[in-house]
Amino acid sequence: MLRAIFISTRPLTLLGQLASESAANAPNPHTVQSIWSRASAPWRESSRLIPDNRHPMTSQTARLYSTEGVVLRHFNLGEADRIITLLTPGRGILRAVARGARKPKSKLGGQLDLMRHVSISARTGRNLDSISQAETVESFPALRNDLDLLSRGLYLCELTEKFAVEDAPAAGMFRMLVDGLAHLEQSGAPDLFLRWYEMRLLYLNGFQPQIQRCVDCDEELEPENHTYSPARGGIACPNCRPTGSDRLLPASVATIKLLRYLRRANWEELDRLKVSDDDRRQTERILREHVQFVTDRSIRSAAFMDEVRSQTAANGKPRPG
Ligand SMILES: [Zn+2]
Repeated sequence: MLRAIFISTRPLTLLGQLASESAANAPNPHTVQSIWSRASAPWRESSRLIPDNRHPMTSQTARLYSTEGVVLRHFNLGEADRIITLLTPGRGILRAVARGARKPKSKLGGQLDLMRHVSISARTGRNLDSISQAETVESFPALRNDLDLLSRGLYLCELTEKFAVEDAPAAGMFRMLVDGLAHLEQSGAPDLFLRWYEMRLLYLNGFQPQIQRCVDCDEELEPENHTYSPARGGIACPNCRPTGSDRLLPASVATIKLLRYLRRANWEELDRLKVSDDDRRQTERILREHVQFVTDRSIRSAAFMDEVRSQTAANGKPRPG
């Protein structure tokens, strides 16, 4: 997870506007650390705009509240309990214990599988909140019945978690994850959709790669093959390419066009897009390394996704878009 969010609460409907605003004021990923350090103000302010869905039952310590959430991860606690991590719209990342969730007849446990959109009731605790009730809003069955889609869905969850923090509203990211999982169930271009999602998540949080102009000298990029620097966070022009000692990735003209297109396209348009395997690989590598650079973490489920995808290819199934 990032330590803070630059813009976490804008509704998804504002993404287009946000993208154009961000393009005009594109923060250089060089300054990610300074963005983080300045980041508290926007989401503190916006936390006043988002209704608090907690319902105080007492004025003392324990409070009962309800919230929606997507289950991002869980791990076992003691004999029969489970700690659940959710992404919620009002509180961002929420960790809570589901007592007895691993008992065979537990109603709670069955509702709190990974990647499920749920509605929960919980009570605040001294260390951890405790989930008392959970109902499934959407279980995304098509993702669970296909290993390939499952690996992609888990990747979306982990990716989104990397950009969320505890106790900070994340309505935009929550909506994007719920809608994204639903779209993934029937997407004709799941690979390209993941790239679209990565790009939108970066923009939503103010960490987009610099793909319009040279990341160093700010000159307009000529329409030719260039290189991308993960450490500098953008495309370097031929003059600036040798100035750093950092590792550079190839970025063909078509790849740069695709990156720019992903930033402004709607996901419905992706199904009709024709992209060569080379450009697809370059785009994936650039966005994955950019995400890793700004979050300072690798996405563990990406390795699982790659493994499933290579098995699918080895079995001779056609690669989806
Ligand atoms: Zn330059």
